[in-house]
Amino acid sequence: MLTHVLGFPSIGKKRELKQALESFWKGGISQESLAAACRELKKRHWRVQKDSGLDFVSTGDFSLYDRMLDITCMLGALPPRFIPCAGDPPLERYFSLARGDIRRNIPALDMTKWFDTNYHYLVPEIDIHSPWTGGTHPVIEDTRLAGKLGFSPKPALIGPFTWLALAKAAAKNRNGVSKWSRLKTLIPAYAELLAALAPHCAFIQIEEPVLCTELLPEEGAGDFREAYAGLNAAAPGKIMLTAYFGPLRNPEPALASGCAALHVDLVRGGGQLEALLDKLPAGMALSLGLVDGRNIWKTDYAKTLPLIERAVSALGGERVLLGSSCSLLHSPVDLAEETALPEHIKGRMAFAVQKCAELSALRDIAARGGRGSVIEENAALLKAAAPHPGNRVDAVRERAAAITPAMRSRQSAYPQRRAAQAYLNLPPLPTTTIGSFPQTAAIRKTRLDYRRGVITEADYIAAIKGEIRDCVEKQERLGLDVLVHGEAERNDMVEYFGQRLGGFCFTQNGWVQSYGSRCVKPPVIYGDVYRKQPMTVDWIRYAQSLTQKPVKGMLTGPVTILCWSFVRDDLARSEVCAQIALAVRDEVGDLEKAGIRIIQIDEAALREGMPPARAEAETYLRWAVDAFRLASAGVEDSTQIHTHMCYSEFNAILPWIAQMDADVISIESSRGGMELLDAFSGFHYQGEVGPGVYDIHSPRVPAAEEMTELLRRALRHIPKEQLWVNPDCGLKTRRWDEAYPALENMVAAARQVRAE
Ligand code: GLN
Ligand code: ZN
Repeated sequence: MLTHVLGFPSIGKKRELKQALESFWKGGISQESLAAACRELKKRHWRVQKDSGLDFVSTGDFSLYDRMLDITCMLGALPPRFIPCAGDPPLERYFSLARGDIRRNIPALDMTKWFDTNYHYLVPEIDIHSPWTGGTHPVIEDTRLAGKLGFSPKPALIGPFTWLALAKAAAKNRNGVSKWSRLKTLIPAYAELLAALAPHCAFIQIEEPVLCTELLPEEGAGDFREAYAGLNAAAPGKIMLTAYFGPLRNPEPALASGCAALHVDLVRGGGQLEALLDKLPAGMALSLGLVDGRNIWKTDYAKTLPLIERAVSALGGERVLLGSSCSLLHSPVDLAEETALPEHIKGRMAFAVQKCAELSALRDIAARGGRGSVIEENAALLKAAAPHPGNRVDAVRERAAAITPAMRSRQSAYPQRRAAQAYLNLPPLPTTTIGSFPQTAAIRKTRLDYRRGVITEADYIAAIKGEIRDCVEKQERLGLDVLVHGEAERNDMVEYFGQRLGGFCFTQNGWVQSYGSRCVKPPVIYGDVYRKQPMTVDWIRYAQSLTQKPVKGMLTGPVTILCWSFVRDDLARSEVCAQIALAVRDEVGDLEKAGIRIIQIDEAALREGMPPARAEAETYLRWAVDAFRLASAGVEDSTQIHTHMCYSEFNAILPWIAQMDADVISIESSRGGMELLDAFSGFHYQGEVGPGVYDIHSPRVPAAEEMTELLRRALRHIPKEQLWVNPDCGLKTRRWDEAYPALENMVAAARQVRAE
């Protein structure tokens, strides 16, 4: 059995790629030094794979910015606005597409989440009328280099169907010509690349995660076999068609593709194995995705082995490969960098380096008929960690088992609640913000000094209270109707809560690439989650004591806390989410007791956590909405519940959002020109809605007239009794000299439209 991983993280265990890129962009190092730094990383990562005993090392997994962009540049598929950059040196043009051309004032390609991961790719834009210029792909050089250094390379590319399915077509060619007509140009370009790679490798991994989604429309699927015939002709016997992030939605196109091998994700699609073994064509090998590329936990060998044995008995060992479920891009690099984790948690973990070793261990165990010290050691480690008191807290389990549907329902339906909330006495089109205010250097220094022990707790509390006072004063002066405390005490909306909840721990170096040079270090949920004590009440109560206007209590919702953490693998996500919801529910209750009349529970990640496959998405939405309701429904009718969401395309999930049963929702929308409001027109949404009227991602201060115009437009879709006025999102990344005038204009716009 051959072994491989689908890709190794590019970023480096000490985030070397980030440093090299950022200093190159600042002009600190030359292009040659950047290339040298990258070469070092690639070599190091190949060495890890080879030394772990894997049969192949990945090439084409390493990208200077993003692998979707690498394909876009290979095709030369530049959106028309980049035509002025066509003559630039390739690297300059590459980074212009990724980050915008500042000199020529051309905005970058859009960025969005890669399926339901926290990685962002650059969205290709297709314009039917502009020709593709063609270009090169770095995988050719990398594959040659790996071969020259004595490694056995397996190039990895995002496939043509996935690239096209994720591309957006410019509005003007939406009617009439489909973007799928571009397949005709795409396939020859891929074929040329494959032909160049074929002499240097045994397999070429072509990734088509769209095979696990509904994104592949019939018109595209019909061409699949024909397109892959073209690709296979360019690299006969080499293509490993690769699917991940779920079971194959429809196995037929993959099985009929004529490829030499098929890779499937058995971590998220274990149920499909039998059917595949049944139908796999004789000439096709099967790569089993067994080691989870998206988490940080050790593989349970005893559970995995039967899958290998089953495949080997059906196909014979020479037709079976063992792999990671998806690229290891989504897991941190090396557990050896962690020196502070408790042993009972670290003992259960595996990062990318360790996952490579797991694959070759699995092969060895399988070869020895499932016996040996390695499997016993694995079982012992997993078993030793399980009974740790933090993993299972009886009180939490009992409480979760006793959740009743009534706990997820507000006392009354929305119309009665609305009446009960009338005492808040808000004007029509009430103005508010989403929560955070500018995180000034002084605020960051206060938090850092406190963390380092430079200032005492009393000093810290006094400093944060000073920030809250300042923030409340500014909001009073601006004339906002519903105030916030400003979130000065929070470094991050999930980390803040994770640090205060039982069941969470934090790594020192568990960085994962988010996009380009940016990384995140997600908290780890290793055990049962519970609240130790109130987490936000003192700050909010203090803010409320400073003003007659209502102050919104500000919490992060259970789904968002779950989605932005690494989650234990020994309990269903839905159950972990319910535990978090109970903790948030307690906080909501304490805020209410402290006299807070409005409470906002942010669910910024609700949409992105949705699995790509439709059947799984339904199940997810059901428990995610339940978790929000569990967190929020324990209050009196007179307490107003808000939620906030950070994306605009939610037409498809609007019925689910309505089921969250919040009194008020605020949503990002200004960038989409309020397109999302169409969804509200068709769907008679009962509650109140604050479509963001100002894009907080940009430093630009919008004029009052622009926002008046957006509000007028919103009023065509949303009755005036239901409309709120707020920015798109929190203001933490803005400066006060941007946020203050923008909010002044926003309040002026609200007053103008009220008068009208
Ligand atoms: N309340 C948070 C803030 O204002 C919400 C952030 C978010 O939606 N991502 O910062
Ligand atoms: Zn937001």
